[in-house]
Amino acid sequence: MHRKPSTDPCKPTTKTCLDCARAREGPAYRLFNPLCQFCGARLLQAIDRQADLPMNKRDRKRAVLTDWLAFGHSEIEIRRLHAGKGLPLAPLAGPGAAG
Ligand SMILES: [Zn+2]
Repeated sequence: MHRKPSTDPCKPTTKTCLDCARAREGPAYRLFNPLCQFCGARLLQAIDRQADLPMNKRDRKRAVLTDWLAFGHSEIEIRRLHAGKGLPLAPLAGPGAAG
């Protein structure tokens, strides 16, 4: 089977996120794809880990959420991924990938 990758920015896709794949290999990887909700959640975690004033972090995380929501993601879903244990990473594409 062959499936074309989606490049429509209105349709977020998390199936084959290159940035998540790279972060999986090296968690210090610092690029985040706004088409990917897992990348958004990972960026929020990265801001959490930085040494900065809590109010600065809050503003930066709000800005990240605004950016990601503009790409059609769900704030609830990103917050859920952000609050979860471990590094948020898009599932690996494979024969079992849904959709
Ligand atoms: Zn990603």
